[in-house]
Amino acid sequence: MNFNKELFKENLQGIAVSDKQLELLDSFGALLTEKNKSVNLTSITDPDGIAVKHFADSISLLKADIPQGAKVLDLGCGAGFPGIPLLIMRPDLKLTLLDSTGKKLDFVLEALDALGLEAEVLHGRAEELGQNPDYREKYDIAVSRAVARLNTLCELALPLVKPGGTFIPMKGASAAEESKSAYTAIKTLGGSLEKSIDFTLTDGSRSLLIIKKLSPAPPKYPRHGSQISKKPL
Ligand code: SAH
Repeated sequence: MNFNKELFKENLQGIAVSDKQLELLDSFGALLTEKNKSVNLTSITDPDGIAVKHFADSISLLKADIPQGAKVLDLGCGAGFPGIPLLIMRPDLKLTLLDSTGKKLDFVLEALDALGLEAEVLHGRAEELGQNPDYREKYDIAVSRAVARLNTLCELALPLVKPGGTFIPMKGASAAEESKSAYTAIKTLGGSLEKSIDFTLTDGSRSLLIIKKLSPAPPKYPRHGSQISKKPL
């Protein structure tokens, strides 16, 4: 067993998971644990950690309203979190998994293939794609976990979201504080923090921040990566 199914179920909080979905999660856990022996993909590889921090946490996104067939971007997916568990639960979604690290995407491609799932895998930097007309303002929903502090993350993500769409950063205990310090960034980029969906998993608190994209982002955003980190909004 690659993940602690009992602990996983304890952390589902009403989300229904079929036997088929459990099997796919188990296979994904096996692939991750095996690959992580030779390639450093994640620091979380124990059965309890995979159950809570990877799987239950990723699929907690189902608490948010994600429309049927939505075009979803997982920004900075790493080894596929939250995107792959989300896709296992919602195969109707048109998912794009984006990361700047090629070796992580090699694993993501292998895993999608082995699990029989379909998604687009994109190698690049969010701040560059945000200025590329093929990607700018093209996603109904962007999600992101453990990539950057919220003010910086908003500059990476909001330009990629369609006006009328939603950005859902996944945060832990720092959610409220980060939301406050990202107030200017959210507003500047055409967004508005609609609500925070707060809940607790066995290892601590979580928040899904529901940031609506109300109007297009000003053309100068996202800036170059160096500017974003030197002078964060
Ligand atoms: N979301 C995953 C991985 C988090 S680690 C998880 O929660 O497990 C952060 C990942 O974001 C890394 O894989 C890194 O390569 C990627 N990343 C960081 N900045 C990025 C950027 N500007 N554009 C695209 N990917 C980025």
